[in-house]
Amino acid sequence: MESRPFLRGWGGRAFETPVLSSSQLTPTTHGIAVKKPVGFSFRPVQFTFLALRTDEGWHARPMSLASSPTRPNLEYAVRISESPFKRAFASLRPGDSVRLQGPLGDFVLEEDRPAVLLAGGIGITPLKGMAEYAADMSLPIEVRLVYSNSSEEEIAYRGDLEELERRNPHLRVVHTLTGNDITKGWEGFVGRIGLKHLREATRGLNQPVFYASGKPGMVVAVLDILADMAVSEADVRTEFFRGY
Ligand SMILES: Cc1cc2nc3c(=O)[nH]c(=O)nc-3n(C[C@H](O)[C@H](O)[C@H](O)COP(=O)(O)OP(=O)(O)OC[C@H]3O[C@@H](n4cnc5c(N)ncnc54)[C@H](O)[C@@H]3O)c2cc1C
Repeated sequence: MESRPFLRGWGGRAFETPVLSSSQLTPTTHGIAVKKPVGFSFRPVQFTFLALRTDEGWHARPMSLASSPTRPNLEYAVRISESPFKRAFASLRPGDSVRLQGPLGDFVLEEDRPAVLLAGGIGITPLKGMAEYAADMSLPIEVRLVYSNSSEEEIAYRGDLEELERRNPHLRVVHTLTGNDITKGWEGFVGRIGLKHLREATRGLNQPVFYASGKPGMVVAVLDILADMAVSEADVRTEFFRGY
């Protein structure tokens, strides 16, 4: 249901919509699906403001959409914290109402160039949506996702990404773990996203676009590596999850 914008000066349209599902994704992350409001459309994959009723009244945060525009519902996911917003997010139940305002931003997949998606932790949200979009639209472009997490159990959407890899012969997902507690038998990379990951991810690609998403520290670190590789700024897109 369309409603009055709750944030002035940001643009986009505002809607109130019901939660369809809500579940813990990993020990420290939580995801929800909400009904896509009639009249709401977005590009792969923008963000919205999401407003929730918390213990302290309505709170809003910018939140990337975690699903492709080709999907029937909208998804969001957060790293859980003790903030009123995050507590309210983690306790959402089907049938509860949320408000969203958007779509906003230009962190959008270019459909005719190879894509290297670089995700740090919860920064996976818009990139998972881009990977879904590429698969659902049968885009002929190569898509490589490098996904960094502290531990194997913290890999959100692992099953969904494996399913997308099966469906899309042009998609490859490379995992890397940064914590001390690497599972025995782990076959992926170890360590923060660096030169070795980017060399692997870009092998054979012609002039890819790089999309980096996550907490500001992670995105800045990735930008440094891309600069060392002499990647032109014109070929880099960023989504800084400010507020962490
Ligand atoms: C474009 C964009 C997309 C994002 N997508 C996601 C996502 O998909 N998942 C996710 O978990 N997080 C995402 N974030 C970050 C999110 O909006 C929150 O800032 C973050 O989750 C921290 O929320 P909190 O309630 O735990 O912070 P709190 O502990 O309540 O906030 C700490 C302090 O930071 C301030 N603050 C909080 N958020 C912001 C902000 N965005 N900008 C400036 N100051 C702020 C608060 O007022 C407070 O002073 C995104 C941010 C941006 C800008």
